[in-house]
Amino acid sequence: MTAVDVRPPLVETRSLGKTFDTRKGLFGRLLVRGRHLIQALNNVNLTVDRGTTLGLIGESGCGKSTLARVLLRLQEPSRGRIIFDGEDITEAGPPRMRELRRRMQIIFQDPYASLNPRKTVEQIVSLPLRVHEKLARKATRDRVADMLERVGLKAAHLNRFPHQFSGGQRQRIGVARALILKPEFVICDEAVSALDVSIQAQILHLLQELGRDLKLTFLFISHNLSVVGYVSDRVAVMYLGEVVEIGPARAMLVDPRHPYTQSLLAAVPRLDAASGRRRTLLSGDLPSPLDPPSGCRFHTRCPHVMAHCRVAAPPLGELSAGHSVACHLYSGQRPAGEAS
Ligand code: SF4
Repeated sequence: MTAVDVRPPLVETRSLGKTFDTRKGLFGRLLVRGRHLIQALNNVNLTVDRGTTLGLIGESGCGKSTLARVLLRLQEPSRGRIIFDGEDITEAGPPRMRELRRRMQIIFQDPYASLNPRKTVEQIVSLPLRVHEKLARKATRDRVADMLERVGLKAAHLNRFPHQFSGGQRQRIGVARALILKPEFVICDEAVSALDVSIQAQILHLLQELGRDLKLTFLFISHNLSVVGYVSDRVAVMYLGEVVEIGPARAMLVDPRHPYTQSLLAAVPRLDAASGRRRTLLSGDLPSPLDPPSGCRFHTRCPHVMAHCRVAAPPLGELSAGHSVACHLYSGQRPAGEAS
């Protein structure tokens, strides 16, 4: 999905943060005592270059989907800035966001839940067109039929309902709905996770093809490192709401530097298990974002933890061109003589 472009990144986040207040129930009533702030995103700095795919990986609950929703302003950020095509859209009002939304779309994980079972394929895919372009009925139908063909379905499917399709076909309908307005930026939020492996490959291939043809820029979110590595130009790894490593996909897959990325890679099943390569498997669960660990958030599970990891958060520092990591092993902050 690579195409060289010298313009500034299409999407950029600067120190982006999102905090949820769990006390706020219906009518703002106090629901819980004690700790109540969930830090879902903390100081997230990312760029997505035009015509490229940034893969975003991390365990369930690490903040990936929150980032997707905040980027599209479906949820409001608590801190930081969101820049889209050079414009700061962090506080853009509803009319401006409505204009921008046609350029930014999302494909959801669950092709069963994300399609209205009472609507036909034509009604589902044409909805964004009806909202944003208000074309005549025939022109709308032609656009939808054309898009269905592009995603590997047929015009004959226009009057069918979602339950008449397989999982892979439903996800193709989801792709058609996301692309019908010819967006520039598409977020795939676990878009193939609910599909069988063989169908996953078909949808990934379709997304790559459409990305090339329509010059799309993707943020591809998944908990599957193999899938992300397959489709991405660059990969960012997120842990408990923070980006801990980002770099070219190949470097991230062949020589990951952050202990968390190394653990994720080690967890991928390999046929050459007897090759002798050392595997550091992750133990324990993701800590609660209600009470994140002090210092480096990964220190409670890190096999290389040092004393100061527990008190000082490592900054995201560049190791080589385009490859940055947040870890004291590389930040030069390690006190002399301390054992790892
Ligand atoms: Fe491990 Fe310390 Fe690096 Fe965190 S900063 S990943 S605890 S070595």
